[in-house]
Amino acid sequence: MTKHVGFIGLGAIGRPMAEHIANHFPTMVWNRTRERADAFARETGASVAESPRAVVEQVDVVITCLPTSADVSAVLDAIGDGWREGQLLIDATSGDPAGSRQAADRLAAFGVGFVDAPVSGGTAGARAGRLTVMLGGEEPWVGQAGEIVEVYSGKVEHVGPVGAAHALKAVNNALLAINIMAVGEGLAALVKLGVKAGVALDVINASSGRSNVTENLFPERVVTRAWPRTFRLALLDKDLGVALKVLEDNGVPSGAIRVAKEAFGAARPVLGEEADHVELVKEIEKAAGVEIT
Ligand code: NDP
Repeated sequence: MTKHVGFIGLGAIGRPMAEHIANHFPTMVWNRTRERADAFARETGASVAESPRAVVEQVDVVITCLPTSADVSAVLDAIGDGWREGQLLIDATSGDPAGSRQAADRLAAFGVGFVDAPVSGGTAGARAGRLTVMLGGEEPWVGQAGEIVEVYSGKVEHVGPVGAAHALKAVNNALLAINIMAVGEGLAALVKLGVKAGVALDVINASSGRSNVTENLFPERVVTRAWPRTFRLALLDKDLGVALKVLEDNGVPSGAIRVAKEAFGAARPVLGEEADHVELVKEIEKAAGVEIT
């Protein structure tokens, strides 16, 4: 039987994910700012709910894609006891493991499943339906979640129990953040030495230091001075905090991630809540007195 899917959170990445959902399933959406939900409904034929509780009352599976686990918890408060046994919440938020375990416990009391299902691949990957999706949870919920999220993903992997996917996503994003910072610092020095940024990146991309940051982000966003806003720096700062906690909770040294957390945390109030994550490089350029071009 075709599942009826609810989608809560039509932000930068949630919206293109929800478009794939609406193309494959009868879909109902709710967004805090109503106009975004109405615009989405006009373009996709999805229906709009008056509240998160109204979504839950009318669908089989709910997907949340919100900034933090605290926001998911607030939405669960609003839903209250609106759940029916056998429903499933797929949380695509880049959340935190403790928050996802709490959500899973709350829902288990209603006989409702919970799977943490964060994504990687950015807004371009979401539009293309090629996101990597990490799943944390137990069967049969993980299998059911996989059948839904595959419509926006190129790779779906069950990585462990509830919370494991949020931990993995946080570590992945900590690696991204460390890389942006290190590439920014290294290239600032090279440009001051007279090496063109494009030349340095060409060499690095044929060498052992290459990464998504050197192959895509710097050529497309920094050297061009395009600075598109696709993933807020505030969210990457949040991810670094989650990763730090994961390391601390497991008694693992966290020096590299701590340094990145300090840098992104300091840049956040300067650049603002809407700045893109790559704009950290602007702070490095300012301190170095050079533009990476
Ligand atoms: P945005 O800031 O663009 O959108 C956030 C969405 O959540 C909006 O729909 C917003 O509603 C809604 N929202 C925020 N707070 C609340 C709340 N308290 N209650 C209800 N709704 C709320 O974020 P993104 O879409 O970029 O990111 C969503 C999640 O996906 C984050 O965890 C992020 O880390 C992760 N992610 C993002 C990627 C990206 O490239 N952007 C890539 C991979 C993961 P409103 O419209 O009213 O503001």
